[in-house]
Amino acid sequence: MTTDDADVATRVASFLGGEPQRNEGGGGGLAHEVLTSRESVRILLDGPDAVAARMVLQGIKGIIHECDGVEFLSPEEKKGQPCGCPPLFENRKLAAKNGRSPMPSIDITFRIAAAPALGPFHFMTTSWQMAAQLSDLLNALERVDGPAVCDLTMELVVYTTKTGRSVCYRKPVVTVLGTPDTVAPEPPPPAEPTPAPAPSAPRRKARPAPEPTTPPAPQSSHSVNVDAVLLRRAAQVLGTGDHQETVIAALSEIVAGRQQTTELARLREDVERIAAIAGQALQGRDYSLT
Ligand SMILES: [Zn+2]
Repeated sequence: MTTDDADVATRVASFLGGEPQRNEGGGGGLAHEVLTSRESVRILLDGPDAVAARMVLQGIKGIIHECDGVEFLSPEEKKGQPCGCPPLFENRKLAAKNGRSPMPSIDITFRIAAAPALGPFHFMTTSWQMAAQLSDLLNALERVDGPAVCDLTMELVVYTTKTGRSVCYRKPVVTVLGTPDTVAPEPPPPAEPTPAPAPSAPRRKARPAPEPTTPPAPQSSHSVNVDAVLLRRAAQVLGTGDHQETVIAALSEIVAGRQQTTELARLREDVERIAAIAGQALQGRDYSLT
């Protein structure tokens, strides 16, 4: 977060963590910055008007095309006329890739929920994902009718493309939570890191320990990701019949080469456990590994 006020920078750091320092990276010419390690900041948005969104194509000499996706917003003499951008969102995105069509330009005016007096701040983004969720966000803000407490999160996205390239980036997401009367200005502190499970226990996603007086929560928060294409390809290479066998065979290939038979036995157990957990997680849902 950047600001031209050193006191504000100090207070932002006290709420969001990090150290106030000189802003070397530009950031609109504001002198102070705080690099917080928070993934999410609880913010206040003053209704749908807090979100200003447009589509902009910047040239060397300034704005070439500024529209709302349908009509020009500038210059004055073209305002309101059809701008010729593709009607479908995906096509707009494709057209922007060649650098000749406008990109989203979104400016969200917010205050820090725990310290509204410090604001307002601006969150600026050209994220297509943010543009795609805008109408949902505006509707949610409309429903709250007044200042809305939201979480502004820089969500980590990690995946592997079809060609096997690893992709990792952060996408901004705004989640509308409710009114200041009903939502706390600070999210609950993150759960204490849980100790590593014993080797014999099935590994599970960490979740907060249940209150001593409440019965244990049902296990409904498993996350299972399977690259079915990769599994099928591996099955062809290894000549295996089902997915579990494929995984074991693939691991055996790696491990047997090093003649580590105990390691192989351990991996086999692990795979069986993972399969059991995955089976539980998928139970009752219409998922199949095809
Ligand atoms: Zn346009």
